[in-house]
Amino acid sequence: MNKKDFEYYNTMLVHGTGAKTGPIAPTITTSAAFGYADTYEAEGIFAAKVNKPLYSRMGNPTNAQLEDIIAKMEGGVAAIATSSGMGAIAMACTAILSSGDEILCVGGFFGGTYTLVNETLHRFGIKSSFCKVDEFEKIEEALDRGVKMVLFETVGNPSLTLPDVQGIINMCNRHQTLVLVDNTATPLLLRPLEMGADIVVHSSTKNISGHSASLGGIAVFRAVDIYKDKLLREKYKDLHPFVKKLGEKAFFGICKKRALRDYGMTANAFGSFLTMLGIETLGLRMERIGKSVESIVKLLDEKLPAGIKVNHPSLQSSPDHSRYCSNYSNGCGPLFTLDCRNKERAFDLLNALNMVIQTANIGDNRTLALHMSSTIYSDFDTESRKFLGVHDGLIRISVGLEDPLTIVNDFLQAAKSTKG
Ligand SMILES: *Cc1c(COP(=O)(O)O)cnc(C)c1O
Repeated sequence: MNKKDFEYYNTMLVHGTGAKTGPIAPTITTSAAFGYADTYEAEGIFAAKVNKPLYSRMGNPTNAQLEDIIAKMEGGVAAIATSSGMGAIAMACTAILSSGDEILCVGGFFGGTYTLVNETLHRFGIKSSFCKVDEFEKIEEALDRGVKMVLFETVGNPSLTLPDVQGIINMCNRHQTLVLVDNTATPLLLRPLEMGADIVVHSSTKNISGHSASLGGIAVFRAVDIYKDKLLREKYKDLHPFVKKLGEKAFFGICKKRALRDYGMTANAFGSFLTMLGIETLGLRMERIGKSVESIVKLLDEKLPAGIKVNHPSLQSSPDHSRYCSNYSNGCGPLFTLDCRNKERAFDLLNALNMVIQTANIGDNRTLALHMSSTIYSDFDTESRKFLGVHDGLIRISVGLEDPLTIVNDFLQAAKSTKG
């Protein structure tokens, strides 16, 4: 087998989105419905015995192209494209969890994920508990207590804490408990399914697209072992019929029939087409941005005035530096943060930027920056902000494809106009 480096993915991704004969670019099928040849074909399609589109909420040929390539990229057996990253997370959570179940959330979280588990799922009787990435005893306790699923992100956003991805997955597998990993920050850099995770989700709005032209998400599933899978445990009893019916693709059926069909967080064909245009250059972009981030944070760390601190795991000053070196050999994605100590200085710096764009997105081809506590986290209470690592002087930056020195110079000139 090929070594899975950037070269491997550059080749795979440009050949995976289109076809070898006929249209070589991804094709867009916008039809919502599809005619069936006869009653027998209709019956077969509804029984999932005939592999043809049923109705676009449940599956669409353009979405299927996207699902195929991302399933391959993550080493999964199937995938489901969704309307957004939150759609993918909500789909996986609601497909698996029922009222009375508990989900354990490890580490810092994207704001929407935090409110989903901490507010919305609560309204439906699903309990959640939280712990920090290295609180292994708490994780162990929760697994002993019988949590139904564990959820974590490969890079804390915006805290930039790095979890022991393999370690947490191994703990979940020892306790035969499902684990869902949000790999939005690190596509290609980490492959949690190959490390033993059950479901990987992405906001494809971010790195996977890169161009900010298409909101989307995707969930990718590992193959289920029909003889001795953890899904066959008593605690997952309500999911057993899917193992019986769909075998190794059980998670695909679970998400389709217990969430997508009824909530309709389906991707649209045009969005999936745009996402695939992004995917063709994903390897090139991740490699370039990984190198840029390291050189940018190093220069800013040296040159920014006292009182503005750079946080990135590649810096020796970061508490995550040794984990970065040992487990994140291709980098940890586009993010770094600046701590300006207070809101005023952070505002002054942001408002003096010439090139960098202020917005809530990340993983874009352009460099983006945002003040955290006054925007995404403005309606979070003090305790939640503390848990998520959001303090008043915090600016999150997502590095793009521009010349790294031009990015550095924009921050340096902006910092000059601030008062320490
Ligand atoms: C943006 C993001 C999401 C949500 O994705 P949307 O496409 O905006 O719905 C989930 N997780 C992480 C880590 C994100 O950065």
